[in-house]
Amino acid sequence: MKFDYEVLIIGGGPAGLSAALALGRMSRTALVCDDSRPRNAASSHLNNFPTRDGIHPAEWRKLVRKDLEKYNTINFFEGSVLSVEKSGPGFVAKLSLDKTFYFKKIILAYGVEDKHLPIPGYKELWGKSIFHCPYCHGFEVRGSRLGLLGNGDMLIYMLPLIYDLASDLIVITNGKAELKEEQKDLLNRKKIRLIEEKIIGFIYEGEKLKAITFENGVTIERDALYALPSFPYKLKSKIGEELGCEKDQFGFYKVGERGKTSIDGVYACGDNANGAHSVLLAAASGGMAGAGIVHELLSEKLFE
Ligand SMILES: Cc1cc2nc3c(=O)[nH]c(=O)nc-3n(C[C@H](O)[C@H](O)[C@H](O)COP(=O)(O)OP(=O)(O)OC[C@H]3O[C@@H](n4cnc5c(N)ncnc54)[C@H](O)[C@@H]3O)c2cc1C
Repeated sequence: MKFDYEVLIIGGGPAGLSAALALGRMSRTALVCDDSRPRNAASSHLNNFPTRDGIHPAEWRKLVRKDLEKYNTINFFEGSVLSVEKSGPGFVAKLSLDKTFYFKKIILAYGVEDKHLPIPGYKELWGKSIFHCPYCHGFEVRGSRLGLLGNGDMLIYMLPLIYDLASDLIVITNGKAELKEEQKDLLNRKKIRLIEEKIIGFIYEGEKLKAITFENGVTIERDALYALPSFPYKLKSKIGEELGCEKDQFGFYKVGERGKTSIDGVYACGDNANGAHSVLLAAASGGMAGAGIVHELLSEKLFE
């Protein structure tokens, strides 16, 4: 069977688009497939990206696509990759719209899915007043009344960042606190209230959080809430797992320095391949995976 493209890139977010740029610059052929479910869809500002701090996330993706226009070996498919199977020296991929193509290599850049707590208001406030990361959304709410929702060592790991941002901080474990005595002492000493009651609702106006209501009937005014993820992460597709790619304890694909997974010919980058979840770092890992694949393709070409 003849290859349609050298590389299939599953996901046209920061990781996939940056991988495409590296491939395009080395004149490799690639098909970037994207089904419009970007991680930062709920946000109207993309922060912490040099030269584009504060840009709308969709505008950022548009600019990268514009950069890619001059590389005519890079093509786009607006739809889903449904399955990928090993076939001879390459991979057969089934796409939506009943399309089937044959590729030499695969890049998994489909990101992760955020789990929304099934509490009224949570989904509505996600990315607006409920945040996952203070680098993405922190400066804007500095000096305000904040909440940190999480538990265990991960909560303590995030504490210094959120404590420094807040004028007043509450820590919410949403059930029994899994904290050591010295960790509870620390909260006490720093006058951080620990709340083990379950959240039952959010009071908000438009996109702005006003207060959090707990099972015991208590309502506490807050301006924003940081919600820590629960592990393992859910990825946006199971294609990597179906191909046999190994994952780590957090749910990310195990990769080498240049994004190589445990399966030959399959690379992974961006949020689905490490825990450093930011546009800049996803783009960087996409660039590395692109470079890894370019090297493999060109070595195969030279030495075949
Ligand atoms: C609310 C929110 C706000 C954020 N704000 C910031 C910020 O301000 N600054 C910052 O640096 N980071 C921010 N982040 C983090 C940032 O969005 C991610 O780290 C980054 O988008 C990861 O890029 P990615 O390419 O790995 O994945 P994504 O951006 O999630 O892109 C993956 C793409 O793959 C596509 N896809 C998935 N499965 C398939 C399939 N089977 N077929 C075809 N396509 C598929 C999806 O449609 C999606 O477009 C934010 C995150 C959230 C949740």
